[in-house]
Amino acid sequence: MKFLSTRGKETVDNASYAIVEGLAADGGLFVPQYFPKINDLEKLLDMDYPERAAYIIGKFLEEYDNAELLKACRTAYSAFQEADPAPVVKLDDNLFVLELFHGPTLAFKDVALTILPYLLRNGADRLGIKDEILILVATSGDTGKAALEGFKDKDGIKINVFYPSDGVSDMQKLQMRTQKGDNVNVVGVKGNFDDCQTAVKKLFSNKETARKLKEKNVVLSSANSINFGRLVPQVVYYFSAYCDLVSAGEIKIGEKVNFTVPTGNFGNILAGYYAKQMGLPIDKLICASNSNNVLTEFFASGTYDANREFFTTMSPSMDILISSNLERLIFEISGRDTLLTEKRMAELIKTGKYGISDNEREVLGKDFMAGYCDEDECLEEINSIFEEYGYVCDPHTAVALKVAQDFGKAKKNIVLSTASPYKFTQSVLKSITGKNEKDAFKAAEMLEEETAAPIPTQIVDLKSATVRFNKIIDKGDATDSVMEFVSEK
Ligand SMILES: *Cc1c(COP(=O)(O)O)cnc(C)c1O
Repeated sequence: MKFLSTRGKETVDNASYAIVEGLAADGGLFVPQYFPKINDLEKLLDMDYPERAAYIIGKFLEEYDNAELLKACRTAYSAFQEADPAPVVKLDDNLFVLELFHGPTLAFKDVALTILPYLLRNGADRLGIKDEILILVATSGDTGKAALEGFKDKDGIKINVFYPSDGVSDMQKLQMRTQKGDNVNVVGVKGNFDDCQTAVKKLFSNKETARKLKEKNVVLSSANSINFGRLVPQVVYYFSAYCDLVSAGEIKIGEKVNFTVPTGNFGNILAGYYAKQMGLPIDKLICASNSNNVLTEFFASGTYDANREFFTTMSPSMDILISSNLERLIFEISGRDTLLTEKRMAELIKTGKYGISDNEREVLGKDFMAGYCDEDECLEEINSIFEEYGYVCDPHTAVALKVAQDFGKAKKNIVLSTASPYKFTQSVLKSITGKNEKDAFKAAEMLEEETAAPIPTQIVDLKSATVRFNKIIDKGDATDSVMEFVSEK
């Protein structure tokens, strides 16, 4: 299957190119030429998760060997704590939670980043690339750690992560700063996530940097959710959750359901849109935002306007004003108009905003609804979910649960849970007990005692881990910092 850039100036022969390049040369995002249809949902019912994954991923990655892909999926998902890497928990008859946080770093990013190293190295080998691959990551907290775990000590790969020095939770920061592996680098940037993302995008588009790296036999690639290799493994759990509900007798095959997704860079929910395009019976995808509700306003008004105050919230992985993956959706709703998409993205860079037509808004309304939840509501929601269902959720999941309930329960609603509550312990503890505890580990112990939800071993291990990285730089120094890392032995 061919892949094309949303901005129209590049088409590549297959997914391997799209995954290895990460971002198209014209600055656009790679999208599949068409959406393969899955008309045989019954077939998926009897499969386990790795089989479902290999089947769906294989629909886009046609040039990958099927048996090898399945083997890689089995290996990737064996790193999860549960036998099922994406279990569905029932809260009540119409409200379900799809738990995506049982991977090595306790965030949903693990679902894609445990398999991406295989997709990338295998793709690069197929393209005859002998150079070392340097993965550049900008993270709002969870991607960084998940990418570091996925890529650590992988042959022929180095990874450099930039995180906003004051924009991530204590646990997230510690997880990254204690990262093991000989091929990893972790750097704090003074600024917010958008500053990190802009720095990485600049590195990618700078020809001089590319030339200097090439001299050292290094090529750049991305593990951010703009990479198609991140997106495609995420399509799988929408299908898998649906099949699980069918198997459990909760829905009949063909019955439409809603999914509510806590959204930041728009990667997770976009994967749901792809699932719908492939034929999964989804009625609405509900986009849930925190106080940085630029997406809520976009869906309501048809204008994307990033000129607004930036809030640091207790759901930091959603503290984003420029949702990169939205470009893929804009491209689809414009009727795949690459010129228009390019024009809008240029406008976004120049003025911080762009608008879509009334007709496009109508198209969007068929697939999407959007809402948001502010900080007070989020604290209240964590508590009320615990009181009502005895279920402990993290702040990102709470945002989605609140928005899901705001839209009522006419249809079965599956809320995506994207992180373990123990990654954001202080906020969760405060919500459930009213207690303020500064120390994240103490807070974890108190939370466990209060709720009986066990502390994951990853958090226990973190307490005694050694900090290896504590560098913090100005955003203008990102390129120098990368060159320095590459020059290290
Ligand atoms: C990354 C992340 C999100 C947002 O996902 P996007 O794909 O960026 O929309 C939500 N919650 C958590 C915990 C995350 O790590």
